[in-house]
Amino acid sequence: MFENLSDRLSGVFDRLTKQGSLSDEDVKTALREVRVALLEADVSLPVARDFVKAVQDKATGQAVTRSITPGQQVVKIVHDELVHVLAGDTEEPGKLRIDNPPAPILMVGLQGSGKTTTTAKLAKRLKDREGKKVLMASLDVNRPAAMEQLQILGTQIGVDTLPIVKGEDPVTIAKRAKTQASMGGYDVYMLDTAGRLHIDQELIAQAAAVRDVANPRETLLVVDGLTGQDAVNVATEFDDKIGVSGVVLTRMDGDGRGGAALSMRAVTGKPIKFVGLGEKMDALETFEPDRIAGRILGMGDIVALVEKAQETIEAEQAEKMMKRFQKGRFNMNDLKMQLEQMLKMGGMEGLMGMMPGMGKMAKQMEGAGFDDGILRRQIALIQSMTKLERANPQILQASRKKRIAKGAGLEVSELNKLLKMHRQMADMMKKMGKGGMLKQAMKGMF
Ligand code: GDP
Repeated sequence: MFENLSDRLSGVFDRLTKQGSLSDEDVKTALREVRVALLEADVSLPVARDFVKAVQDKATGQAVTRSITPGQQVVKIVHDELVHVLAGDTEEPGKLRIDNPPAPILMVGLQGSGKTTTTAKLAKRLKDREGKKVLMASLDVNRPAAMEQLQILGTQIGVDTLPIVKGEDPVTIAKRAKTQASMGGYDVYMLDTAGRLHIDQELIAQAAAVRDVANPRETLLVVDGLTGQDAVNVATEFDDKIGVSGVVLTRMDGDGRGGAALSMRAVTGKPIKFVGLGEKMDALETFEPDRIAGRILGMGDIVALVEKAQETIEAEQAEKMMKRFQKGRFNMNDLKMQLEQMLKMGGMEGLMGMMPGMGKMAKQMEGAGFDDGILRRQIALIQSMTKLERANPQILQASRKKRIAKGAGLEVSELNKLLKMHRQMADMMKKMGKGGMLKQAMKGMF
């Protein structure tokens, strides 16, 4: 599905990873080629530009270890950025919000995009893989053939369809589907709305009316992946007018250049949930950014190698930090690292839960409304300190405090709370260090 892009990129990185050292110019040249490769794959210009810039920024500030070459490091950064651009802050791949049966799924899209086929493919998947009882209903009252097509597919895959009643309007059909789904004990009912060749007023009005009666948790937009940037434009328009929760890109088995997949999330903010890879009923795959990025780059070995090396660096850092803590050295830089770690690990609860003896403190903090917002404010306060102040927080007097708080756009009282917390943590680290508990506690943290 991404053959051309993949070929181009592996050419660029083959050269890069063979070099022992890299100059800024080498990286720049490589990234220029990456940009061209992305544009040739029909990735939108702003997305390609942002992509290259993000890689450039990260490549500059990276700590390089002895065990990997700079080129390998760049490959890993590109890989991570690909995952990021494909996923955003994605939920679990392929996961649909279909709790609370009967859960309605609204299928929308242009005519010919593969909407009816995808409806059936998805119904089959939910039935076979998740054991769901699914009901499908076609709302395409203008095209009786489309209604029959869904019925035929339903028979083929063993999924029920709502009986066709001539002369009903889409809203009535949607209501009937809802009733039948409730009474028949269905887990999910899928509404295959009418498609048009272009987005027009009537299409939108109809889909919106159905949406309003069905109140779907998932509104999946089906778009033809072969149409490249047009697919992204269609998605933007549907999302503006109807609101979609996810995208299914069809015909990704064709010779599409894959650009739509790469731009979709960045441009529309909507995740691609599935990709269609053929006409057969099981030719539907969950869209897994990690795997797709791996497929595009084709450099899984290098990515794994760099991950391993990074783990080693982190373990070394943790070891060093622990030694310092045991000696009672716990300054603001350490606290900042801890706070950042907490954010990464899902906030206060996640972290404190892993540290024996910290449970009580976690409760106190929770009681004080301790949440990610506070973590971020505390990090901002520390960032507002000078190097000297971070290393020696005891020198903070009134005027310094005022300056720091102002720099972070916060009150001195918040800074005082942070300082108090730092003192408490430093004390505790020291005590735990003596009893050997610290080592135990820190094991789970990195
Ligand atoms: P609708 O008008 O949007 O409902 O489109 P259909 O579901 O009728 O699909 C139109 C055509 O595209 C049919 O011939 C499908 O078999 C085909 N099709 C749908 N999805 C895919 C896909 O992922 N890959 C390929 N190659 N063909 C597909």
